[in-house]
Amino acid sequence: MVLKRDKRFEKRIAEKRIDFLLDLADQKKYEDYELSRRYIELSIRIAKKYRIRLGKRKLRFCKKCHYPYRGDRMRIRISKGVVRIACVNCGNIRRFRIK
Ligand SMILES: [Zn+2]
Repeated sequence: MVLKRDKRFEKRIAEKRIDFLLDLADQKKYEDYELSRRYIELSIRIAKKYRIRLGKRKLRFCKKCHYPYRGDRMRIRISKGVVRIACVNCGNIRRFRIK
């Protein structure tokens, strides 16, 4: 007998883990920046494996170096309805429009 895997159930657990890891990364980012980066990398890996879209959760860390955004490690500029977030660690700039 082969036990069937419940993919939907697994996906739900994976999603919970992602949220948990990102929250943990948020809590630890002022104490141990390296560790919270590790948490984010883990949550990205889980998301990739279970094909979970990160959506708004993506705004919590830098896409390029995976360090969480932190007050003293980022620069935010708003002009003409465009928000620019610059990461101080790697220099990556993200832009998006606000309505
Ligand atoms: Zn970065």
